[in-house]
Amino acid sequence: MSEKAAYRVLLYYQYVTIENPEEFAAQHLKFCKDINLKGRILVAKEGINGTVSGTWEDTETYMTEMKKDPRFATMVFKIDEADQHAFKKMHVRPRKELVTLRLEDDINPHEITGKYLSPREFYEAMQDENTVVLDARNDYEYDLGHFRGAIRPDIETFRELPAWVRANKEKLEGKKILTYCTGGIRCEKFSGWLVKEGFEDVGQLHGGIVTYGKDPEVQGELWDGQCYVFDERIAVPVNRKEHVIVGRDYFDGTPCERYINCANPECNKQILASEENEHKYMRSCSDECRVHPRNLYIKEHNLSPEEVEQRLKALEEETVSVN
Ligand SMILES: [Zn+2]
Repeated sequence: MSEKAAYRVLLYYQYVTIENPEEFAAQHLKFCKDINLKGRILVAKEGINGTVSGTWEDTETYMTEMKKDPRFATMVFKIDEADQHAFKKMHVRPRKELVTLRLEDDINPHEITGKYLSPREFYEAMQDENTVVLDARNDYEYDLGHFRGAIRPDIETFRELPAWVRANKEKLEGKKILTYCTGGIRCEKFSGWLVKEGFEDVGQLHGGIVTYGKDPEVQGELWDGQCYVFDERIAVPVNRKEHVIVGRDYFDGTPCERYINCANPECNKQILASEENEHKYMRSCSDECRVHPRNLYIKEHNLSPEEVEQRLKALEEETVSVN
């Protein structure tokens, strides 16, 4: 065994009844702060969903303490080693639902859900001709990395997925449908919804992409790009056999795996961009964002109105010459 990493990042969830989410959240926040964790935890009547970082010892304490609670005794922790914290603060927030699907009839994964597939089973099922693989995440997550050949539903957020399925039924009918997401929590509900919707052969990747990448046998095979994560690391590797870059620079379309946020705080759109293009385009997704009065790039770089004007002109000239 190699030397212990200084820090670890934990990713976990459990669908289980939590009677008073507000009270639980307040106590849990205190507990997490007492053991120096940082991260984001959502608590709802239907369960808990968290990702936290801390030292090796503190994360060990957290897992040990959580497992003493019968509600979380069998909870699976996905563990990544790290050199430092992956968050700046510690939040525990009470919520109405753990994942935002806003279904008219909510799904309880303990009652109805797709068939759980191990990484090996998923890997094999994926290669069956009659299979469609459906990404159950947001578009910007797909764009950084996804299973080879997976469908990218033409939606911006996960909660639009049910409407997309209903509008694209012909793509899925009579097929084996496989769904996947980062840690598995979104698929528990989404695959359950698919079953309820009448699709007969629905499988979900148990433990999500993160588990698939760590599986000693499949080692992330057939995954292209990286996996988007909701912490300061942004991207983590999955495929340990080969690394194919599928991300494309928002500005020039070249291979890229570097995410930035649009400098217009009212837009804040996540785009892939090289460092060079970040500067060239003033870290903004559009002209409208580039000239926004609250543009953060302009503030950070102390650009005068004349300088901004000059740079916009240079961009404009380039576009003209390319066309
Ligand atoms: Zn923008």
